[in-house]
Amino acid sequence: MTTSSPSPPDYEALLRTAGVRITRPRRTILKILGEAGDHPDALEIFRRASVIDPSISLSTVYRTMRLLEEKGAIHRHAFGGGPSRFEQADQGHHDHLIDIDTGAVVEFRSDRIEALQDEIARELGYDIVFHRLELYARKRRQA
Ligand SMILES: [Zn+2]
Repeated sequence: MTTSSPSPPDYEALLRTAGVRITRPRRTILKILGEAGDHPDALEIFRRASVIDPSISLSTVYRTMRLLEEKGAIHRHAFGGGPSRFEQADQGHHDHLIDIDTGAVVEFRSDRIEALQDEIARELGYDIVFHRLELYARKRRQA
């Protein structure tokens, strides 16, 4: 099993690939997401964006997140029914473990789980198109 760390992507290329016109707020927001390892929600993205560009509004953030999601440039998660949290789409497949006490999100990938899911779907007569796996967990106490 491996934990993944995001590598710095080319934001403008990402927007171009998504067919989205490059604007300063969009670039700022993508940059924030590219550097975030914590799957921030829109409010947190807004907070970070405001530091870089005080003219950004919360509605711009919401609008941009919706647009980028539609274009497939970012993924939206609703971990545990909480506020939507976001990450860039081009980070390779991984699953998430959510710490239910702190809300921290840990990324992982397990070839055994991937293989097992394929096997289960096949036995049921299906091919997996995509999947999401979320583990809700509590940190073990150290003895
Ligand atoms: Zn993730």
